[in-house]
Formats: sequence, C-alpha cells, structure tokens
Amino acid sequence: MKKLRKEDSLESVLSSISNKIRIEILKLINREGPLSFTEIMEKLQMDPKIHAGKFGYHLKMLNEAGLIASDESTGKYYLTSLGQEVSNFIYNIEDFVNKKKSEMLVRTSSLTIEPFDRKKIVEALVREANMPRRLADSISKEAEERLKKSQIKYLTAALIREFVNAILLEKGLEEYRHVLTRLGQPVYDVTITIKNTAKLGDPSPEIIHSIAGNSVLEEYMLLKVLPRTIADAHLCGMIHLNNANYWVLRPANIFHDIRLILNDKISINDFVLPYPNKPITFKEALFMVNALLKQTMSYVSVAQSIPFFNIFLAPFAKGVDEKEIKKLFREFIFNLNLILGCHIPKVSFELEFGIPDFLENVKCIGVDGKQYTYGDFFDESIRIYNILIEVLSETDGISKPLLNPALFIKIRKKGKLLDKFYEILVRTCQLARKWGNVYFINQEIPWQTENVSYNLDLSRVDSISNWEYDTIRVGVLDNVTINLPRIAYEAKGDDERLKEKLYEIMEIAIEALNIKKQVMEEMIFIDGIIPLFKKNVNGSSYFRLKTSPGIISYVGLFEALKYHTGNSISEDNSALKLAKDLISIIADCCSKASIRVLPSSMVSEPVSKRLLNLDIKYGYIKPKDILYYTECSNLPLYLAIELKTRLKIEEEFQKLTKGGHLFDFRLEEPFPTEEVLANYTKRIIETTQLGIFTFTRSYTYCWKCKTISYGTHIRCPNCGYDGDKLAVYTKVYGRNKPSIFWNQEEKDFIAISKSFIL
Ligand SMILES: [Zn+2]
Repeated sequence: MKKLRKEDSLESVLSSISNKIRIEILKLINREGPLSFTEIMEKLQMDPKIHAGKFGYHLKMLNEAGLIASDESTGKYYLTSLGQEVSNFIYNIEDFVNKKKSEMLVRTSSLTIEPFDRKKIVEALVREANMPRRLADSISKEAEERLKKSQIKYLTAALIREFVNAILLEKGLEEYRHVLTRLGQPVYDVTITIKNTAKLGDPSPEIIHSIAGNSVLEEYMLLKVLPRTIADAHLCGMIHLNNANYWVLRPANIFHDIRLILNDKISINDFVLPYPNKPITFKEALFMVNALLKQTMSYVSVAQSIPFFNIFLAPFAKGVDEKEIKKLFREFIFNLNLILGCHIPKVSFELEFGIPDFLENVKCIGVDGKQYTYGDFFDESIRIYNILIEVLSETDGISKPLLNPALFIKIRKKGKLLDKFYEILVRTCQLARKWGNVYFINQEIPWQTENVSYNLDLSRVDSISNWEYDTIRVGVLDNVTINLPRIAYEAKGDDERLKEKLYEIMEIAIEALNIKKQVMEEMIFIDGIIPLFKKNVNGSSYFRLKTSPGIISYVGLFEALKYHTGNSISEDNSALKLAKDLISIIADCCSKASIRVLPSSMVSEPVSKRLLNLDIKYGYIKPKDILYYTECSNLPLYLAIELKTRLKIEEEFQKLTKGGHLFDFRLEEPFPTEEVLANYTKRIIETTQLGIFTFTRSYTYCWKCKTISYGTHIRCPNCGYDGDKLAVYTKVYGRNKPSIFWNQEEKDFIAISKSFIL
C-alpha cells in the first residue's frame, strides 16, 4: 500500500467516501463482514460483465485511502480499523439525516408515531434477547437497508419486529428469534371471535377480551415458561396441561379457612371493597364470606371451596332465630349467584353432620366476646345445615335453580350413628334429587384420612400430618393429564415398554407441575400479584403453597388397555390387573416427587377429544378406530354393565387416585324418592369403598314458560316450546351445567353417558 502523509491521508479518506457506490461498499462490509470481489458486486446488484472495470476502480480508491484491505489467503475484502470507524461514522450521519427528514415513520406499540430509529432495534435485541451488541448492530443495519428498499407505506413496530425476525431466521439465529417473537392472534381470528361471541350462552364484550388474552398467555406459557420438552409434550398430545390460559397466572382452586376473615385476622381488600367492622352478627359474617368469595374469584382458574362451613359459621348463629337465619341465607345465596352466575357451580361448601373430633375442643370466640370451643356450637351447626338445605331447594323468581354453592356433605365416624341424623340425610337427599347439586364424601372408609376435602373440579386433598395444615388454605396448583392410549400405541403390545413409557411421561408431567409451583411462588411472593394469598397469618402466608398439591390425571385407561391386551377391563381380570398396575405407577411416581403431587382420574376441562384427534393426526390410529377416550371415570359411561360391577371396579381405582375421583350415579326417571335415596346413600357408605359419589338427575328448564320438567326433553312438556331457550341441566365432567353452555366435547360427553336404574 502506498504510504501517505498525514495531511494527505484525511483528504484522501474524505474524497474516497464522496461517492455513493463506495459508501455502499463500506456499509455492506460493515454489515456482513469480509466479502469477495464478486460477492460485493452481486450484493450491490452490479453486473460483473459490464461494471467490473469501474468497480475495480472504486475498490482501489478505498484500498488506497486505507479503509479496506484484502486478505491474501481468502481473497476477501475486510474493513481496516480506520474503515470500521469511517463506516460507523457514515451510519451515524445517515441516522441523523434520516431523523431530520423523517424518512420513515413508525406507528409504535405505545400508540405514537415516531421517525424510524435503527438504534431502537439494537436496544431491543440486546435487552430482550441478550444479543451481543456488535451482532445486534449489524442486524439492525441490515433491517434498515431492507426496510428502505421495500418502501413500505404503513410501517409499524410489529412489522419491524417481523422483519428483524425474518433476518434472524435467514442467518440461522433461531434461538434469538424465539425470545423476540410476539404473542397474539391474527386480525382474522379476533374478527371471528367478535362475530361468534353472541352464539355463547352468556355473551359479553369481556368474553372477547378474555379469549384474546387467553391466546397470548397460553403461547407465553409454551414459549417462555415451560422448557421445550414439556411444551412439545403438550403440543403433540402426549400430555395435556389443563387451564393452559391461566397456567402462568393462578392456581386451579382453593380451600378457604373462613375463620380468619370472620375473626378479622386478615382483611380481604380494603382498598376497593366496602369494609365492615369485625363481624359480630350472622349477617356481617355472611357478608364477609361473600366478599372473600368475590375477591378470590379472579385468583383461581376453576373453583373455591369452604370446608367446615356450618361449623365455622355456627358461633354467629347463637341466639339468632330460625326465621332470621333463613332470611339472611336467602339474601346471601342470591348475592352469591349474582356475583358468580347461577348457571355453573363455582363455589362449594362442605357441610358436616355434627362437629368432628379434632374440632370439638378447638377454641373460638362467641359473638359475646367470650371464649368457647366449636364443640359448644353443635346445635347451631345443625341449624345452619338444615336451613341452608332448605333455602337451596328454592328457586329464583322464574323457577330456575341457584347452583351456587354446590354442597359437599361429609359423613364421618360420628355419622356412623347415621340413624341419629337420618332425617337430615333424607332432607339432603331431597335437595340432591331436586337439583343434583349435592356430593357425598365418605370419611368412613380406611383409605380416607382424618380429614379430606374435595373441590368442585373433584380434586381431593387429605390430611397427612395435620387436618389443618394439609387441607385448608391450600389449593390445587394445576392438573396435568396423561394420554394413556398414546403409551399403549407406542408400547406395541409389550408390557414392560408400556410401563417404561409411563415412567417417562410421568417425569415430564411432574416437572411441569414443579415449574408451575415455582411460577406461583414468584407470582404470589415476589411479584405480589395475588395479595390475599400473600397475607401474613401468624408467620405464614394465607395460601399454603408448600402443601398445595399438583394433580396428575389420566384419560383413556379403558381404551389403552383394550388396545394393548385386546380385552376390556370390565371383563378380563388380567387386563384389569395391568390397568391397576399402571395407575399404581402413576401414584408411586407422584408420592416420590419432590413436591406434593397427587394422582387423579378427573380432568378439569374436556381433554380427551384433543388427545384423540392428535393420536389420529400423528397416525397412531385411524379416524374411526376409536371414537372416545374415557375421561373422569375408568369405565366408559356408555358401557352396558351391571351397576354392581361398575361400582366394584371404580371403587378400586378411587383408592389409588388420592388426588381426585367421582362416582356419578346418573339415574333414570322415575327418580327414586328421597327415602329410597337416603337408604341407598347409607348403604353405599356402609358397604362400599367409594370416597365420593353424587346422584345426577337431568331436568329441562323452559325459558318460555319458566318451568322445570324432569328428564331430558327437546320439547317443553308444559308449553310445547322447542327452541334454543330450552336448557337441559345435568352433570358434565362431574359438575352441573345447562346445555346452552355446553361445548362440542360436553355434548359428546352427554351423548354417550348412560343412566342407571338403582
Ligand atoms: Zn315451556
């Protein structure tokens, strides 16, 4: 290279960049790194046949000015350190000039219009994707060049992001693109949501808002929160993450301890709710319960439960006459259904026949301010029980049922004197046969512990060390469902492989719940997004995260075994044994997990249709091979077998699924009388191993003539109406729901569900 004098050198540098092509060459090498003679020509869209001579001259100028040099081994031109400086300088001037000229205007996500600024891309790449600044700089320059060339008329921040992401993909920088991507819905999908919302049972602008939000948060979970192995397991249908839209936001349910709000130990949300004094009357106590349920509604995905409802409330009923209690309960129930909607149960109360042993001597404060024990309020607890049952048997002003709360009746050792409580049992069965919104929990059988509680998604928690610590102020974190037929397809008839596959999936499912727990910990205790759950009660938080379990459920046990062994578990003992082995493996893995995980046969949303469709899509089975995967029970509801046999098999699985189960007696009309039902309930409790069961009676409500007709009707027996305001109420996936709110999966569920005769 020719040696230049200092004063010549500046002049030569400046004159070398006073040409458009030479500027482009410097910028190009700055962006893309060393390039050969022909590469540069191609990228600048110059024809080597025509322009080679002239182009050589430009390169020579840059070379002589000391801005570029060529590498002899590769023949490529690179920027010298002076060339690097000068090309950056050119970019800076360009940025400055562009801004002044406002050459490209951008509509930003914060709803402003600003001149294009390349540096914002650099900052975003560094901040969001942790990209080295040098690489970010070169990507941003390329994006700017391309945007300019494309002459886009309507430039938005989202579009720039798409542009940058495309460049990252082209350059094989996929990992960076992964974190930079945007979440959300195509414009078309949002339009469709808006157009279709009126077809839902209870349309509202809020629903559109939540559907749009769901899609963002579900994608967020899959992209950012879960490792790819777990996200892929969900996407390919090996597992199903229930409540995916809320996975990163809240637990599935909660079991409250209302003593804390009744005794004024914690406040609910005194910023926004009207706040009374410490409740001293029955009316104030009910007000507080309502406030608690309302506040917590948005903190859980599925449901809330209040264990010991009639016991913890009992001190407030002391000295209050029956009429008054009834009046207040009516108001309370109406308000509750006003807040939650009366069509789908979202809240359940657990009622007890008397005071359990472990509560008998627990201290409580009476409305007179004196100290008592709960044992002192036996009479009040029974009075509350009876009146609540009576009030819930009523309807609203247009004869439809109020389905909040559902009642979970706990029958304990003391209740062994069922005869003593026989009348109460009959009254309870009267409510059960009226609305079907009652569940019976059998605490008597050996595998139940001192205290168990079931929530409305039929998940179950039990006391391991302590009735209080393990069963109240806890909540189910979430539910991960295992696709059992999938492992059967992959095992190809080999028992050992079948079990091996199950172990593999269990590892993934447990890890997913592990992550959910960490997410909840961050949400509640670091980010402070659920203030009530963080509230301090004697040194620990209201929500006991440590003992709150994750649930692992399954679908298609029946179909998996049928495929694997060729036999039905209802007929073949060795198939049944293998089925029990599989559920035992699930239970065993759960018990060995580092966090509390419980096995369950209940899903909290329709799951199996999605998993079945994915098994078809990936070629495991053909479309008409199998029509359903059984969910929420072990034997399909369409199976025509004796009730006795069904009971015998289901009770064995209930014992293995300590995280949730249900036996649903779907009974035909004419429905048994309350006495028959009460005697039957007594017999089930005394002679079977069922932990929880319910009686389901379907009924049809006509919005036209406002009457209820028992049974499933497509035409109102009273007025003949047959339009879409005729709703069938029955249990779907274990919970009451009128047909106008059923989705396709729920319709299918009902279509295959058979009723029994007692
Ligand atoms: Zn009618």
